[in-house]
Amino acid sequence: MYYYICLVTNEKKRGHQGTVYLGVLVSWWLKYTGGFMDLEKIIRDVPDFPEKGIIFKDITTLLKDKDAFKYTVDLMVEKYRDKHIDKIVGIESRGFIFGGNVAYLLGCGFVPARKAGKLPADKISESYTLEYGANTLEIHSDAIETGEKVLIIDDLLATGGTAAAVAKMVERLKGEVIAIEFLIELDFLKGRDKLKGYTVNSYIRY
Ligand code: AMP
Repeated sequence: MYYYICLVTNEKKRGHQGTVYLGVLVSWWLKYTGGFMDLEKIIRDVPDFPEKGIIFKDITTLLKDKDAFKYTVDLMVEKYRDKHIDKIVGIESRGFIFGGNVAYLLGCGFVPARKAGKLPADKISESYTLEYGANTLEIHSDAIETGEKVLIIDDLLATGGTAAAVAKMVERLKGEVIAIEFLIELDFLKGRDKLKGYTVNSYIRY
């Protein structure tokens, strides 16, 4: 491996210059391949939860692992570092965990999209259907200013109803949805079809 790296960077001939090339190569590889950590192995499958036939992707096994948690948040932060995001909308509840940390590190505001009845002040709402059941989400009416660049974050994209409802609320408040970010995507549920026209990103696809 070392010999191969030397070959690529021509380190033996170029000395310091080769070391610089190696650094660039490694940082490029980390940025575009996601680096070393196989997050898929750290997420737990729980069959028949919350209903028979659903395989629940349990991210608590990732969250309790300090390296995996940091790695996941860093992946999301790096992707949007230069995008001038004003607000992150995190979707209750697992979207809060990633969204809050990403907002802190990007230096932007955080807006919780909460289940019906939880927000205290004037709010707007959208209802939608889920892989299991139906739901209503709300955000405060003053959460987003006209023209603000918004990144929506949740842990998992299934049928896409949840994220589509949140994107709709952001646009009702005249925010611009820059992207919708997920850790996990269940490809077979075709959630992206409900999110056509938006930039959608995920890191682990089943
Ligand atoms: P959907 O609106 O169908 O895309 O559902 C996405 C929301 O439901 C996300 O907030 C997920 O946390 C949750 N969800 C849906 N299906 C699963 C699943 N199989 N495992 C874990 N969470 C899920």
